Amino acid sequence: MVDTLGHYLLDYYRTCGVDVVCGEEAGGWLVARSRPAEPAVETPAPVKRVVAPPPPPAPAPAPVVRPVSRSPQAPIPPSTLTLEEKLARLQPMAQQVAQCRSCVLAKTRTQTVFGVGSPMAPVVFIGEAPGQDEDLQGEPFVGPAGKLLNNILAGSGYRREDIYIANALKCRPPGNREPQPDEIHLCQGFLFRQLEIIAPKAIFTLGRYAILSLLGMSGAMGHIRGKRYTWRGIPVVASYHPSYYLRTPSRKKAAWEDILLLQDVLDGLS
Ligand code: SF4
Repeated sequence: MVDTLGHYLLDYYRTCGVDVVCGEEAGGWLVARSRPAEPAVETPAPVKRVVAPPPPPAPAPAPVVRPVSRSPQAPIPPSTLTLEEKLARLQPMAQQVAQCRSCVLAKTRTQTVFGVGSPMAPVVFIGEAPGQDEDLQGEPFVGPAGKLLNNILAGSGYRREDIYIANALKCRPPGNREPQPDEIHLCQGFLFRQLEIIAPKAIFTLGRYAILSLLGMSGAMGHIRGKRYTWRGIPVVASYHPSYYLRTPSRKKAAWEDILLLQDVLDGLS
């Protein structure tokens, strides 16, 4: 019965065009095609780009400030400026001096030393260059030589605040070495401009570099001092630097002589 049924089915399949009989199991092509899932490729975490901060801006070059006046020869007329007007001219110049890098002394100074005192002063005292104390304090004649100058002034009836004090150089030469000609030349315009603004009745120079800067005179102070000179119509009396009297106390008499000459000059003007 089974064989009959089998033959019947075979005949039926042949009639239907079936010529191959396959088993019940799946042929495997699906298996072959369904490959095991490949391990997931881990997506790397986005790399954080480390962006270097922009370089700091290069420091602006220091402004080169030149002294403002060169040795004009015209006489300076008596000033008609008020105190406020003189201060309005001196204060910006002090800022110019503070920025000045015209000579090598700018590299070693602690600060510039512009000047101190009353812009209405009848006399301007001119020293040579700041020393260590002046460089630290920013004021001329504050060390031992300054104390001696105060004594000389007091003995002559002057008060420090009644005069104006400045130096030929606004910056300290390192180690208190002597000022160099190019330094005096480069700084000269600042001193001249101060004098133009203040327009004192008389000028009293202290030391050979002060008279060298003002009048171009060089030589032994023993020959230069004790005489009356003129700078642009303003009488000038030259004297030793107070530090000279500290080294040579026996010569202090010269200080009184020169101050008396200054007083004679002022009396002659009034
Ligand atoms: S000494 Fe005078 S010229 Fe030289 S850097 Fe100082 S202010 Fe400028």
